[in-house]
Formats: sequence, structure tokens, C-alpha cells
Amino acid sequence: MLKLHNTLTGKTEEFKSITAGKVGMYNCGPTVYNFAHIGNLRAYVFADVLRRSLEYTGYTVTQIMNITDVGHLVGDGDEGDDKMTKALIREGKPKTRDAMREVANTYFEAFKQDLEKLNIETPTQFPFASEHIQEDIDLISVLFEKDIAYQISDGIYFDLSKFPEYGKLGNIKQETVEETESRIGINSEKKNYRDFALWKFNDAGWETPWGKGFPGWHIECSAMSMKYLGETFDIHTGGIDHIPTHHNNEIAQSESATGKEYAHYWLHSAHVQVDGGKMAKSENNFITLQTLIDKKFSPLAYRYWLLQARYSSPVNFSWEALEAAQQAYNKLTTLYHSLPDNGKPVVSYLTSFTTLIEDDLDTAKSIALLWELAKDDTINPADKKSTIQKFNEVLGFDFNNQTSMNQKIQDLPFEIQALIEYREEVRKNKDFKTSDNIRNELKEKGYLVEDKPDGPQISLI
Ligand code: AMP
Ligand code: ZN
Repeated sequence: MLKLHNTLTGKTEEFKSITAGKVGMYNCGPTVYNFAHIGNLRAYVFADVLRRSLEYTGYTVTQIMNITDVGHLVGDGDEGDDKMTKALIREGKPKTRDAMREVANTYFEAFKQDLEKLNIETPTQFPFASEHIQEDIDLISVLFEKDIAYQISDGIYFDLSKFPEYGKLGNIKQETVEETESRIGINSEKKNYRDFALWKFNDAGWETPWGKGFPGWHIECSAMSMKYLGETFDIHTGGIDHIPTHHNNEIAQSESATGKEYAHYWLHSAHVQVDGGKMAKSENNFITLQTLIDKKFSPLAYRYWLLQARYSSPVNFSWEALEAAQQAYNKLTTLYHSLPDNGKPVVSYLTSFTTLIEDDLDTAKSIALLWELAKDDTINPADKKSTIQKFNEVLGFDFNNQTSMNQKIQDLPFEIQALIEYREEVRKNKDFKTSDNIRNELKEKGYLVEDKPDGPQISLI
């Protein structure tokens, strides 16, 4: 029985799909104004593990991941510049929709490559916000008909006094009426201080019955999710920062328009932190997947590092921790390649694995179980390999496509390269004691050095 932690109820609950055997899932996708950082990528590794877990437990999944290429402001609410417009300025491009799409395409391609490197399965569809303007207009029109949307000089807003349940996701404490009223002056035309924009007027935008402009980020997600998954669907995901504003706004718009519950299960992934603070593009502490690759780490070692924690726990990134993950990953790869094919999965291990995954995707304990299996000498080697393959249907470590032997020295982490070079130097000076010590140190780190006539040959242990 699959159990998932639902932010909507605050409980870990049995998962029941609307249609037997099928799941509709919407993942809030990237805003394509820059490269994704490795913190952002956690949200998509999580969505991938969730999708794989659903498939592993027998569901067919329709997975929709949107691409935000217009409308996302720097603040999650209505404040700040549009992120895509900022990218146009940064890249010296004109403020036109064509230029925006060009920027979007560039970062979307980079994003898809990141997903591939992390062995993230391609979602069923990647709808672009800019291609769903009519759906936004239709949804806003319904809200107008119901007297929930209203127009002021800079855009169209959602009247929150018409949705008393606002804040129910994550139980976000609402300000008292008095607090709200005291802030009305902030945008004096808004009816309530917390009312949020559905549409913002802008001369570079799309024509609508109300004037030219851009959709709000929240309406885009409501419009796209309901278009592809129906007015009520099974699972909606995002990062925890989406709970207070973006996702509560999506709920308010969608449920007011349809009169139905929007998504049944809301799952949120926690942040990747650096020195205790959130990794963010604005903080200048962000690291891209390419930076890891440049430092000779494998993207799948990053995936391994992430999955050592459950998706809902915050994790603190450090190079030392990634190094340890790389070593562990190398060892598993080498073990995997040393095992023969044509075995059968070991039922007892599979049962334990399924129980862990069904417990709100406990990838941390699943990795511990993977190591227990790796070290279990009572298991027939071919069966061991076959069991690891089953685990990988969810964990996605893809050992099959990783080479374990004869590593090229220039592809190894710098620290390892430096040790190998230093060892060569001391060997030339006939300091064999130091050379042996370094060999042992390398062995502890998961690298076996063999001295061949044309130089050292390195394989993973
Ligand atoms: P964005 O492209 O800015 O819309 O963000 C994409 C996703 O990354 C969202 O789901 C965010 O919640 C998530 N996110 C942003 N910063 C971090 C972080 N430091 N760690 C984990 N997830 C993050
Ligand atoms: Zn969204």
C-alpha cells in the first residue's frame, strides 16, 4: 500500500487514484530564464522518483511538467520584475515575445540535457506557458463571470474575499482583516491587500478582451494542469517554497472556477542548502550540474547524494559529501559490472524495498538496503544483479550505462588525479613506501591503481 505525505491534510496517507491503475500528475516546472541550479534539480529528481515509484507499484502515469516562459515575477507574488524580461535585459535582447521565446528555448534545451544526465525520465508533456494564453483567458473569463476577478489599472486581480478557504494548503496563517486593511495602501486599487494578479497589462504582451498583457504565473499552472489532467487530478508537486503563495493561489483560482477539488495529493520537496541557507540564483551561491561535471563528478553521483535523504528533508550541500557519494556510487558501479546476468530478483529483498518505497518514498533507507544486498555473500551473484536492476527501476542509478574499468585519468575528480600524479612523482624518486601509502589511500577512496608499462591504470573498486 503506497503512502504519501499530503501537504493538504498534513498527514501521510494511503494513495488512492481517481481512476484505478492510472495517475495524473502535474509538476511545477522550471522558469526558463537561466540555467537550473542543482537545488532546482532536486525538485525534478523528486518528481522522477515519484513517477518511477508509481510505475513500480503498478500505475500508468501521465506526467505533465510545465515550462514557465512568461509571467513569473521575481517575487512569488506580484512584486518585482518579470524573470524572463530580466533575462532579456541581461542578454541584451529586445523586449519582444520572439526574443523571450528564444531565451526560453535556450534554457529549455539546457534543462532537458540536465534531466537526461540525471537519468530523469521524460515527462509525458512539457507544455509552455506562452502556448496556453487562450486557456488563461478562458479561466479568467469564468472568474469574471463569477464576480471573483476584477480589473484595476495595472491588471486583473483575484478577489480573495471570495475564497474563504485560502491558505488551506500547508495551513498558512492568514492575516486578520484589520492587518489586511491596514495594508490596503500598498496597491491602493486592490480590494484586499493579498489579492493576487491573474493578468498584468504590458504593451509587449498578448491581446485580450481587457487589454494587452501577460498572464500571472499562478493562472498558467491552473490552466495547463486542468487542460491536460482534468479539473480534478491526482497529484501536484513543487518545491516547499511554492506552498504559501503559488500553490494556494492555484487552488483558489481553480476551485473557484470549477467548484471542484483541484488536486487530491500535494507533495513538496525540501531545499538544497549551502552553509545552512537556501541555494538560490539571487544569492550567488548556486552551482549548476555543469559545474559538477567540470569538477569531474558524475551527475548520477549527485542523484545518489540527493536520494540519501528523503525528498522532504532539507539537505546541506558540501563538496566533501558529494565526494563521498561519488566514491559510494563508483563502488556500486564496479560491483554491478562484476556480477553475471540472467539471475532472478530475490523476493525477500524486493519485499523490503517495496515496503520502504511505499513508505512515502524512503530512498534513504532504500540505499542502505541496496548496500546490505551488495555486501550479502549468501545471495547468488546473478540474482544480486537482477535485484539491483529492480531497485534501479525506482532509484534510477543506471549502473548499466556507467563504465567501471580503465578510467581515463583526466575524467577522475581533481583530488584523485592529484594523488595519482603525486604517486608517479614519488615512484620516480624510488620512494616506494610513500607510493604504497598513496595506493592504499586511493583504494580507500574506491580507486585501484595498477602500474602498467605505459603508466598507471585506474579502475573503480
Ligand atoms: P524556478 O525555476 O525558479 O521556478 O524553480 C524551480 C524549482 O526549484 C521550484 O520547484 C523551486 O521550489 C525549486 N527550488 C528553488 N530553490 C531550491 C533549492 N535551493 N533547493 C531545492 N529546490 C529549490
Ligand atoms: Zn506552478
